[in-house]
Amino acid sequence: MTSILIKNGIVVDPEQNINGEKMDIYIKDGKIVDECKADKVIDANGMTVVAGGIDIHAHIAGPKVNAGRAMRPEDMKHVRMKSGKFRCAMGGVLLTCPSIGYEYARMGYTTAIEPATPTLYAIHTHEELDSIPIIDKAALPLFGNWHLTFKFAAEKDVEKMKSFVAWAIERAKGYGIKVVNPGGVEAWMYGKNVHSLNECIPGFEATPAEVLTTLMKASIELNLPHKVHVHCNNLGVPGSAETTAETIELAKKIGEYCLHITHIQFNSYTGDTWKNMGSGAEELAKLINDNPVTVDMGQVIFGHTTTMTADGPFEFALFKLAKSKWINKDVEIETGGGIVPITYRAKSAVNAVQWATGLEFGLLVDPDKIVISTDFPNGGPFTSYPYIITLLMSKKFREKEIEEKGVNNYIEKATSLLSIETERTFYDIVKMTRTTPARILGLKNKGNLKVGADADVAIYPFNCNDMPDYERILKALENPAYTIKDGEIVVKDGEIVSENWGKTFWVKAKEQSEVIEEELESVFKYYTVSRGNYGVREEWIRRAEAIRV
Ligand SMILES: [Zn+2]
Repeated sequence: MTSILIKNGIVVDPEQNINGEKMDIYIKDGKIVDECKADKVIDANGMTVVAGGIDIHAHIAGPKVNAGRAMRPEDMKHVRMKSGKFRCAMGGVLLTCPSIGYEYARMGYTTAIEPATPTLYAIHTHEELDSIPIIDKAALPLFGNWHLTFKFAAEKDVEKMKSFVAWAIERAKGYGIKVVNPGGVEAWMYGKNVHSLNECIPGFEATPAEVLTTLMKASIELNLPHKVHVHCNNLGVPGSAETTAETIELAKKIGEYCLHITHIQFNSYTGDTWKNMGSGAEELAKLINDNPVTVDMGQVIFGHTTTMTADGPFEFALFKLAKSKWINKDVEIETGGGIVPITYRAKSAVNAVQWATGLEFGLLVDPDKIVISTDFPNGGPFTSYPYIITLLMSKKFREKEIEEKGVNNYIEKATSLLSIETERTFYDIVKMTRTTPARILGLKNKGNLKVGADADVAIYPFNCNDMPDYERILKALENPAYTIKDGEIVVKDGEIVSENWGKTFWVKAKEQSEVIEEELESVFKYYTVSRGNYGVREEWIRRAEAIRV
């Protein structure tokens, strides 16, 4: 393996409180080292050096991603890179597996988390993750609508919930606990939804609040590196801000960090109809800053995309609104899902509020608590991250976009965006794309350039101590001078120059499945697979890396 010296770069690493210092970085055997004899020297004079970016929430693998591709042949025909030395890369917003790895690397990103996999289909998720080159990845199994989750939540039995979580994460080769609309997907099997945290889930004695609380306690007691990752109830509808505030209250009661609310933008609307819908971002940002929770943005990008979520009832509502195509899926006793293509329009009052609300969060929440995301592909393509960063860094760019895209002026009444003067510094941005997601995920060797960290590095062709105008920032972020993954140069001047294979992280928690033996036996009566065929073995994964807790 080549050893590399990155010479005279301007380093930004909030984990080490380094903000724009001229430094040399040495890389050997895929790690950052103190010093070494370098086979290759990169002259980074006048360029900014940061750790590889981390996407905490992007639907990049699994059955619903694949179903979305099949549903949108019109989106998949776009050729991004012809095959040659590398594989052909295809896709408009949705992407093929090779495209996903290449496009992340082309932005200086080196890790991405698939945030919603049913354990029953985890084998499919891992097959696809294994087909994505370059980046490291992990998958979060879905727990929020699983019959056993409801049972242990109803009994408030944290011990059994712990055993169940450890068992299921091991079977899925997953990384943590994902919850989508707790109870709502089960209710959808009867054509219903749940509308509050304290409503009983049909057929069970548990409420969404009990599901969340028991899982949060289990995640703390198991010492999971990533705590509970939640898509709140009532997502995407006017009034959702209230439910989100109540969900934060549940975490506050527990008193220590245990809750990551994902794509917060979609969960933050005030009002009671689409006519008086507004943004609840100002109030929620205060709550987030004051309580032990973290969030990611879920920024909306104007244009077409294909939404996909385990939140079946929400997708039905969206299908009715968008008058679009629709897929609905039931995953036995675990979860469900839906897919609906949509277009976000700048001139639509609702879509404009969504766009503005995401940006409000990016500007109002402490960068130690928020991560940039589009909830790919739900809010839009992850390839828009340079665009989102530039919007957060430049008020002038925000004003230009509002003007040129003709963003509906209802945002003036319904959001606080226009009155926000904040312009994020590049140090803040590095936090929101590297330091903070690595901390939230408990990945100590990621998101920083400490000695011993993984040699995932991005070098951007601008000097962060002398910030250029927004046009040049955007261009530089879209075309890193170098992306280095595991100590290998994979991108030069925005183009893929080599390809390697990243790791798949999974969490091996101390398992005591004998405690729930009776319950496991009873549920497998209802599955279409036998217990022996359920789950994924470590040796089936290309580069599995277990994190033991
Ligand atoms: Zn999502």
